[in-house]
Amino acid sequence: MQLHDAEEGYQAQEGGGGLVLSDWEALIPRPSSRFLKVKCGKCEGEQIVYSHSTHLVKCRTCGEDLAIPTGGKAIIKGSIISVLG
Ligand SMILES: [Zn+2]
Repeated sequence: MQLHDAEEGYQAQEGGGGLVLSDWEALIPRPSSRFLKVKCGKCEGEQIVYSHSTHLVKCRTCGEDLAIPTGGKAIIKGSIISVLG
């Protein structure tokens, strides 16, 4: 049990380091696809949108277009609040 507790403490420290990793990734643009939290410009509702969506993504609340497929990276119409893994 003591060994297990020590292990958990170590993982907690690693979790804090995850923020640093996100900052580092933000500095280096990569073509990898991501999930984006997008805020609708019309109703301000928030929705998760896939960055390389191959189909038109509409706002769940008002139906406004949020992501338009291009064959590559989708055009995001709302404002991107955060980027998820
Ligand atoms: Zn909306």
